[in-house]
Amino acid sequence: MTMSETNSTIQKEQKPDSQSNIVATDITSSPKGEEGCHGGAARMQEAAKAAGKSQVLEQYAKDYPAGPHDQPQSMCPAFGSLRVGLRMRRTATVLSGSACCVYGLTFTSHFYGARRTVGYVPFDSETLVTGKLFEDIREATYKLADPEKYDAIVLINLCVPTASGVPLELLPKEINGVRIIGIDVPGFGVPTHAEAKDILAGAMLKYARTEAEAGPVAQPTARATSLPFISLVGEIFPVDAITLGRLLEPLGLAAGPVVPTREWRELYSALDCAAVAMLHPFYTATRREFDAAGRPCFGSAPVGYEGTAAWLDSLSRLLGISSNLVDQAKNAVLPAIKGALKGSPIDARITLSGYEGSELLVARLLLESGADVRYVGTACPRTEWSDPDRDWLESKGVQVRYRASLEDDLAAIDEFSPDLAIGTTPVVQKAKELALPSLYFTNLISARPLMGPAGAGSLAEVINTAVRGRERFASMEAFFEGVGSGNSAGVWEPQTARVKEVA
Ligand code: SF4
Repeated sequence: MTMSETNSTIQKEQKPDSQSNIVATDITSSPKGEEGCHGGAARMQEAAKAAGKSQVLEQYAKDYPAGPHDQPQSMCPAFGSLRVGLRMRRTATVLSGSACCVYGLTFTSHFYGARRTVGYVPFDSETLVTGKLFEDIREATYKLADPEKYDAIVLINLCVPTASGVPLELLPKEINGVRIIGIDVPGFGVPTHAEAKDILAGAMLKYARTEAEAGPVAQPTARATSLPFISLVGEIFPVDAITLGRLLEPLGLAAGPVVPTREWRELYSALDCAAVAMLHPFYTATRREFDAAGRPCFGSAPVGYEGTAAWLDSLSRLLGISSNLVDQAKNAVLPAIKGALKGSPIDARITLSGYEGSELLVARLLLESGADVRYVGTACPRTEWSDPDRDWLESKGVQVRYRASLEDDLAAIDEFSPDLAIGTTPVVQKAKELALPSLYFTNLISARPLMGPAGAGSLAEVINTAVRGRERFASMEAFFEGVGSGNSAGVWEPQTARVKEVA
């Protein structure tokens, strides 16, 4: 089965999916009627454990600790793994799950610009229960495993196949020279899509590390430098990787590959680094592989004046770089960062929340730009790699909340009455209802350079423009006053009641 054939199967198999929904409902239904992505998680967990997935779920529970909320409201976690797979060249990514989930994930991945086909092995209640689904996955994997086209095939079990124990780990590790990687990414065991990125990035690094330990591996296609380099962990804006390279130059270092990588050979290269910059702090499985390869890691990122100075200091401590060189590196960039921050001031009170894992870094940059940041919520867990940022923010009086829920983010808006709320879709929606300027974190903030001089002034324009729009919001609110609420919401309860009374 080719990727386009597997994709067309989505269209052909609409009827069987109605059967697969029967199975999904059967597994997830709860006596309290809590079915759905975020309901019945305990039952799904029990089913998955009974079906042989205990070890995987226990590892996830260790890697991605829940609490104070079990699962912040967010998109389907599997999107993170799917995105990482779809960004890799010469990699086929295949989903196994209910067609409704696959439809949503395929839609979202193409909305975010995926240029590759999403593979799908459909199932119905019979193939799920009899184990035929695993045979179908195996057959599809063999048909896809063309070394002319692919370095790797990634197979992702969604909620129902994970709860049913579909054993992707029993697939061959390699077919015709194509690497086979099967992972379980259920919504009831992985809190956020950010952490699902880590699951696949970590699984690929583990595979590549095992290959490198077994013997010589292919050279990366383009190693631009012979200097020792720093591997960069986190999906960063492309300009940030160039900025990091310039920051490292005076230290006799270079910027290495960004993990998650874009091609298989970069994984070997990433493992060959001098140290690892954990720019995004939630990559726990990825870090485990760097640990196993003996590569030291350090946290935070070079954002703003103080953030950049502190980042250079912790890197130099880690690698024992002389203070002279560090001073040279600082002198080369800090004045430019100071100038950029001064030239693009932000004068606004801001609350900020998101699920990308870079929220604390953005908050640092906003504060250094002059903003009055009161609250930072992130759907990601607390790890040691964001401790420097948390310490710094808390020392400035900012409330930092890990695994923040939507309710936390909305309560912060109520408590701090900001001039601007930066957040996820429901936060922005709520802010609009309040006639409060707001910006989407994922689309408008995290898709910008943040680091070094390039990042220093990059947020001011979009933020200041949004804050200036407050008057427009006020006039719109006055114009539409009352529309969409009470009797004008489209639910005419009082009138209906009166009609009944009259009747
Ligand atoms: S796979 Fe994703 S969309 Fe489907 S039920 Fe699980 S969490 Fe929800």
